[in-house]
Amino acid sequence: MGLPCGYPRGRGTLRGAMRSPARRQSADAEIHARLSARIEALEDRVRQLELHVRRAATAAVRARSGGASASKREAPGKPRPRCPGCTLELPRGRRGDTCVWCGFHFAAVRRRAGKE
Ligand SMILES: [Zn+2]
Repeated sequence: MGLPCGYPRGRGTLRGAMRSPARRQSADAEIHARLSARIEALEDRVRQLELHVRRAATAAVRARSGGASASKREAPGKPRPRCPGCTLELPRGRRGDTCVWCGFHFAAVRRRAGKE
């Protein structure tokens, strides 16, 4: 007996449900097309990046295989500056005013050296 009352309501929601998916389908198709195009572009990019990485990896391996000389090159050359605070070698290319390891201020030592 409760069913006849509930039935029309159910139909109403069904209609609404049936209309929106139709709209969504076209929108979904659009989004799908856009996404697939994007994914294709991204896949191309990933392939290119993978190629780059492989080339870099093979280059690194080559450098290592001939790398005995490369490591020798580093050692006798300029001795890397060490932090006066923690006596650790400072990484190349990163010359800040403070030690990357302990935060020691180099300026303090430089000033002293300049005065002396
Ligand atoms: Zn330090």
